Amino acid sequence: MRIFTASLATETNTFSPMYTDLVSFYQSFYAPPGQHPETPTLCSAPLVACREYAQLDPSLDLVEGTCAWAEPGGLLNRLSYEHLRDEILRQLSDAMPVQVVVLGLHGAMVAQGYDDCEGDLLNRIRAIVGAETIIGATLDPHSHLTGLRLASADLLIAFKEFPHLDFMARARELVQLALAAARGEIRPVMSCFDCRMIDVLPTNHEPMKSFIEKICLLEQQQHALSISVIHGFMAGDVPDMGSKLLVITNNQAEKGAALAQELGQELFSYRGQTLPQFYSIAEALSQAEHLSGVLVLADVWDNPGGGVAGDGTLILHQVIQRQLRQVAVGTIWDPMAVKLCFAAGEGAEIELRFGGKSCATAGDPIDKLVKVLRLQVDAQQQFADSLVPMGDCALISFDGIEVILNSNRCQSFDPSLFRALGVEPESYKVLLIKSTNHFYQGFAPLASHIIYVDAGAPYPSDPQRNAYKKLSRPIWPIVAEPFN
Ligand SMILES: [Zn+2]
Repeated sequence: MRIFTASLATETNTFSPMYTDLVSFYQSFYAPPGQHPETPTLCSAPLVACREYAQLDPSLDLVEGTCAWAEPGGLLNRLSYEHLRDEILRQLSDAMPVQVVVLGLHGAMVAQGYDDCEGDLLNRIRAIVGAETIIGATLDPHSHLTGLRLASADLLIAFKEFPHLDFMARARELVQLALAAARGEIRPVMSCFDCRMIDVLPTNHEPMKSFIEKICLLEQQQHALSISVIHGFMAGDVPDMGSKLLVITNNQAEKGAALAQELGQELFSYRGQTLPQFYSIAEALSQAEHLSGVLVLADVWDNPGGGVAGDGTLILHQVIQRQLRQVAVGTIWDPMAVKLCFAAGEGAEIELRFGGKSCATAGDPIDKLVKVLRLQVDAQQQFADSLVPMGDCALISFDGIEVILNSNRCQSFDPSLFRALGVEPESYKVLLIKSTNHFYQGFAPLASHIIYVDAGAPYPSDPQRNAYKKLSRPIWPIVAEPFN
């Protein structure tokens, strides 16, 4: 049995000014055939899972295609998308005949002229392999689930957890089901329910925590082969934006549809109740002045993981104004400032302008006399089993505040981002990071307190104010009663 595997993924915030192109993929992750590292990345985990299965079963002939991931950003350049897509399609054509295609997708990639990149890719793959070959893909739950994807693929499985710490488990599940389907042991049928809502749905908080536990139990009790909650991605202006419930049964379409509807309606009942408490900057910093231990302040809406720049200064300006000390900031994206720090060298004191350059809403740049404490070429942080590149980084210091400037945009996943620059996060009073929720598992063990800070920008976090032009149907909270 021959399996072809590849990965093409990014998350497109169509409201972001940070356009995405080929260079964005090369900077984040690009592994042509045979060059994928042993460790998985969030979206290329199916390739690593395929390797595991191929090692156990010598009758499997694994053909590896290209795996590419770009840090979430703005609209993907059309030629860049077509270049990467066609690279993978060529590799697949050369590998024919194949019985299984297993892909690592994200599901919220939007390119110029392509509202549904993944649907386009899956549809072209179906045209190459024919009706009999099993096509499966993992998806990020922050994706759009379109009819074209459902029609083109046999198996779509989204990460269950947000933070997405289960990406390797879902990849193994996908490969296992795809092989079983190719051997004729199961006949997967996908049933989908449109929940007509969009919200942020962390699964480490109630009610989503129990909801996901319930879904896992339903799978264990074999009510379905797989159940996925597509959270949706509110920063993508595409027709299918919104939450959907996807159930895969063993050829039981009606049972699958009923279960998808039942669970989808349960999810709809949780709308508006899924977020932990968010605080304004002033509220958060007032607490910071009184709390002891290590306080983690998460700048939830300047999260590069949602496609914004990650160079926002709204919170840091107020930290400076309040004269807070023992503050470590990880990170602010500013490749130009990093270059200036490298030119000046470790130990230099320089007048530096940093941050606040990408857009009007993320705050003004900061001008300070800073000391360049440390420079690191190709710094990395950890996220579960994967390594995330931060690019060349500079650690600067002023007014009792230390800031890591990075040159590859990335969100703050894990305290290892501080250690990569020689900063011991435990020795600070305040850690100011940029992430909506992926940081949680990594930072919780060292944090005395975690405060989610809502600075109001630059991520388009209020669906009622976002200027959607392509959304094809009523969804909550834009419409109060979308099913009426
Ligand atoms: Zn996600």
